[in-house]
Amino acid sequence: MKPPAFDYSRPETLEEAVGLLAELSSGGKVLAGGQSLLPILSMRLAAPEHLVDINRIAELDTISAGPDGVRLGALARHAAVERDPAVRSTQPLIPAALRQVAHPTIRNRGTTLGSIVHADPSGEMPAVLALLGGSVTAVSARGRRTISAAEFFLGPLESALGPDEIAVEAYFPALAVRSGTAFAEVSRRHGDYAVCGVAALVSVDQERRITSARAGYLSIASTPLVLDLTEAVLGRRCADDLSAAGRLARQLVEPDADIHASADYRRDLAGVLSDRVITEAARAAAGSGPGD
Ligand SMILES: Cc1cc2nc3c(=O)[nH]c(=O)nc-3n(C[C@H](O)[C@H](O)[C@H](O)COP(=O)(O)OP(=O)(O)OC[C@H]3O[C@@H](n4cnc5c(N)ncnc54)[C@H](O)[C@@H]3O)c2cc1C
Repeated sequence: MKPPAFDYSRPETLEEAVGLLAELSSGGKVLAGGQSLLPILSMRLAAPEHLVDINRIAELDTISAGPDGVRLGALARHAAVERDPAVRSTQPLIPAALRQVAHPTIRNRGTTLGSIVHADPSGEMPAVLALLGGSVTAVSARGRRTISAAEFFLGPLESALGPDEIAVEAYFPALAVRSGTAFAEVSRRHGDYAVCGVAALVSVDQERRITSARAGYLSIASTPLVLDLTEAVLGRRCADDLSAAGRLARQLVEPDADIHASADYRRDLAGVLSDRVITEAARAAAGSGPGD
């Protein structure tokens, strides 16, 4: 199928783009990498009057990583973020998750911020942003605001962004000392959306005992789900049996069934993958940073 007819603008500046969206009211739609929006239009699941293509706005094509974290502009493509050495050393969970997003051709064009704004509960990067406690900064004719990940994801394909707002930056906190991360997912074919995916963030103390263990889930709830699994593994070392984390996750998740998997299968996957990533993240935490 072909998309319904729409008007199209390709502004060169953020100011121009924001002005256009303000004029269009709710009839405008931002076009970034087009890897989600164009399939949606082609399937006639949406029919915006006007697409505002942001690809010529050079100031949005930024990737920066420093002691406080990683900041991605709206035109930072998945592939560029995945390959950036400073991003990898500042927050290794980002490239680990991006490697599971679709296929290389889609990652070459799709933007990481677009994926967050798209708010697909099966998307890897919304879950990563939620687990890390990151945020999204948006700009409109009304001004600029920063929305925490906890407040950003409202439902399937629904974010807190207004129709007149452009998301200009995603912020991911840096990995703290004596902390580690890991990511794992199961999909029917490599590159497909995951049947279930889990990201983990574990911290240990100077004796390498776990002080905090949290996990972020995709394809499990209508928005990215973050669970605190600390009580199951508190005080344990990475070499200990950490399977209590998976047992707790199994109790806490409430997945739905769909054509890809039953609710029970998804619950089991959430448990198995939680075990795996919490153990891997605990090992990474124990092997990282000062504290000897
Ligand atoms: C075959 C296939 C497989 C895929 N598999 C996966 C997968 O496994 N995991 C995964 O996470 N994704 C997957 N994707 C989606 C891909 O990651 C997209 O790149 C991403 O979801 C959207 O980014 P985009 O830049 O292409 O956004 P677009 O498609 O341009 O836009 C998506 C939505 O976000 C809005 N938007 C985008 N950027 C902004 C902005 N800066 N400000 C305001 N609104 C904005 C658009 O208006 C639109 O509503 C897949 C896509 C395809 C085609």
